[in-house]
Amino acid sequence: MTTAAKPTFPAPGHDHDRCTADAITHAEQICAGRAQNFTPIRRQVLRALLSSHRPLGAYEVIDELARVMPRLAPITVYRALDFLMQNGLVHRIESRNAFLACAHDHDDAAAVAFLICESCGSVGEIPAAPVAQALNEAARLTGFAPKLSVVEITGICAHCQAAGQSLSA
Ligand SMILES: [Zn+2]
Ligand SMILES: [Zn+2]
Repeated sequence: MTTAAKPTFPAPGHDHDRCTADAITHAEQICAGRAQNFTPIRRQVLRALLSSHRPLGAYEVIDELARVMPRLAPITVYRALDFLMQNGLVHRIESRNAFLACAHDHDDAAAVAFLICESCGSVGEIPAAPVAQALNEAARLTGFAPKLSVVEITGICAHCQAAGQSLSA
């Protein structure tokens, strides 16, 4: 079965086991390609983040994992998150102080925009290189030395718009 290009915001009721399996396979390939060790803890932390398309805070990751294994120390989870971020498998959503699993193949240096749904909490990711370039250029004109690579945009996803905000959880 071939997978079509993934929607930025998967529809409610989509086959999320498939999202999870694809993301784990992607992580295994990245780690193998970079000769990085995808340890059980790193795998568990990524799995916890893959429980939905909402980013999770570090303590939410700990709570999620505590349902299936002995409670992890925060430092253990932060180290695993650092590893996953360094390898492009997890993004930090600054405005939410939370972490999002990523199964995209993208250049580590390429700018992205995160679309954060204020209704369902899901976060989608789109390429944002032209926007980041334009903003960086405008900043440079003022003499500022910018390093913008991430744009975070809040709003309402198409599914929540269709469902009507009052109906969404
Ligand atoms: Zn999914
Ligand atoms: Zn939504």
